[in-house]
Amino acid sequence: MYLPGVGPKKAELLINELEIATFKDLLYYFPFRYIDRTRFYTVREIDPDMPYIQLYGEIVSGSVEGKGKGKKRLVFRFADSTGSIDLVFFQGLTWIKDKIKPGKKYVVFGKPNLFNGQISMVHPEIDVYETENPGIFSTNINGIYSSTERLRNGYMGNKVVVKLMFNLLNLVLTKIPETLPDYLLNKYRLLSLPEALLNIHFPQSQELLVQARNRLKFDELFYIQLGILYQRTARISATRGFVFDKVGEHFNYFFENNLPFSLTEAQKRVIREIRHDTGSGKQMNRLLQGDVGSGKTLVALMTMLIALDNGFQSCMMAPTEILANQHYTSIVQFLKEMDIKVSLLTGSTKKSARTVLFNELAEGKIDILIGTHALIEDNVQFKNLGLVIIDEQHRFGVEQRAKLWNKSDSVPHILVMTATPIPRTLAMTVYGDLDMSIIDELPPGRKPVKTLLFNDSNRLKVFGFLKEQIKQGRQIYVVYPLIKESETMDYKYLEDGYESIVRAFPPPEYVTVVVHGKMKTADKDFSMNMFVSGKANIMVATSVIEVGVNVPNASVMIIESAERFGLSQLHQLRGRVGRGADQSYCLMMAGYKLSKESRKRLELMVATNDGFKIAEEDMKMRGPGDIEGTQQSGLPFKLRITDLSKDGELLEAVRKIVESVLLRDPDLSLEENRALKTSLENTGSQKDFSKIS
Ligand code: ADP
Ligand code: MG
Repeated sequence: MYLPGVGPKKAELLINELEIATFKDLLYYFPFRYIDRTRFYTVREIDPDMPYIQLYGEIVSGSVEGKGKGKKRLVFRFADSTGSIDLVFFQGLTWIKDKIKPGKKYVVFGKPNLFNGQISMVHPEIDVYETENPGIFSTNINGIYSSTERLRNGYMGNKVVVKLMFNLLNLVLTKIPETLPDYLLNKYRLLSLPEALLNIHFPQSQELLVQARNRLKFDELFYIQLGILYQRTARISATRGFVFDKVGEHFNYFFENNLPFSLTEAQKRVIREIRHDTGSGKQMNRLLQGDVGSGKTLVALMTMLIALDNGFQSCMMAPTEILANQHYTSIVQFLKEMDIKVSLLTGSTKKSARTVLFNELAEGKIDILIGTHALIEDNVQFKNLGLVIIDEQHRFGVEQRAKLWNKSDSVPHILVMTATPIPRTLAMTVYGDLDMSIIDELPPGRKPVKTLLFNDSNRLKVFGFLKEQIKQGRQIYVVYPLIKESETMDYKYLEDGYESIVRAFPPPEYVTVVVHGKMKTADKDFSMNMFVSGKANIMVATSVIEVGVNVPNASVMIIESAERFGLSQLHQLRGRVGRGADQSYCLMMAGYKLSKESRKRLELMVATNDGFKIAEEDMKMRGPGDIEGTQQSGLPFKLRITDLSKDGELLEAVRKIVESVLLRDPDLSLEENRALKTSLENTGSQKDFSKIS
């Protein structure tokens, strides 16, 4: 409000529309692109592959063409001395028509494209050519700030924002404190912060613009990493972890007698990493990533045996009851004939059984407790909880998870597991406090799932294929999307689907069961058991089966309306099959008309089985805030200039730099690091990363 040119009305707009409340907010509101006024092109030079370019010439004429909603468009004829092209507008016709006057000269900025064999520009920017450039900000590269309809209506279009930026920089440029120490600026040849901020808004040259962006990205990443690693260093020196220094009786007995197969190299490596952590005296905080079917449960189990060998209880929390049951069953099976007490606690555990369980737990009679959210209730008290394992961690909120580690006097070791690969850059930022283990290898003998894309006209063919598979004894999943906005519609859709499947696969020859989130637990369990035991041929489900369910005999996954699923979700679903020795298939059914983006997604699924690759692409397509693995907690900070899908290299470099700064000066007490400490404290409202696991 106190900036010349703003005042109360505009101040309110800035807050409401752009969340800009302070000089600093405005200073860090960066252009999203630039017009390079250093070069004008002529119409004759244009070819349709050019990026945004600038032309100078005359609007010869303008007229509205086409009739009816969505068809109406405003077409200007624009000419310079070398030729002419059309400038086409589909929106804001009245407004543009008022502003642009045929017969006058304009600067046009836009991207050429080819339509019906003619080169034109759609929605270019059209401006009067301005010669007077203000003082030290005189530059030929002009920043363009993203705007909103409300801002434009409130007389806060791009020009006004530029003017405000000009006023602001005039006022504060000499007062902006440097946030990085000289030794870093010199070593990495970075612009000073004031220079960078000046050049990001008013670039003096392309070269300086590149340097400004680089400096500001460096700053952004540096402080995120410093926040994470500074707290991490403090946490490690402040918390002592339980020492699991024995690999004893249970672990060895299991390894020699009960383990039905040999471990993959990746599993061995991860177990070594875990043993190193838990034996070191520091508290383990580890994220285990591994594609579906890579054998994380077994790693979890063996870690729990190490805890037991050292006299500690462990617990393992799963996001759904189905999954908790399955873990319980398979772990009991793995441990058969061993004297280890494993118990299960879920929402459906009866009251009387609960009372018994709580007692046994408090007395230390239970060695391993498996369960759902029920584990975090207050009356679940352990005697000596030494290890917490969380499966499919992104399904739980941060607070929920934190409740688990308060169940022990000292913080237990923590292993969180996920089958949703998180792109490395994102993991380093969102889960930067965690140590990372990756199982990048599937158990031997698995055949990669074949993925195919179909549309509705292929349905009969698909059904024929399914019958053949069933004849060979295989089982089939049919999954429908679930979209929270209209649950009733979703279930209707699922029910219709179920009916059509039953029509095509009539009982008693075929048995089809249905599972969805709205069913009573008992009914759901009944259906699940029918399928798990092999009595049902087909399971029709919503994406509740996405997480963890393991039926090795199921070899076909049909995904209905596949275009409505996200990439990571599709990959998860596909992971339900391909768990046995048979060739498995994932058949994605999609509509005829697919958006370009949906098609790209589905084609990527067909092309690759690599979960990490899919996660990277997902991040590129949807942005880091939306990708599975962070949806629950969201990105804990706003990235103004870095793009995690593109700036991975810089991030890796910056993280190393931060590590070396902290290695030399863990509490940032050296004089030369004073700026770091001050800036870190000023940005101190960040999340406590030590609890994010
Ligand atoms: P996820 O990583 O998805 O949790 P699971 O732990 O459910 O995977 O393992 C999938 C299947 O592979 C299970 O049936 C498990 O017993 C089996 N498995 C795990 N490790 C191995 C191995 N080293 N060799 C063969 N099969 C294995
Ligand atoms: Mg699992």
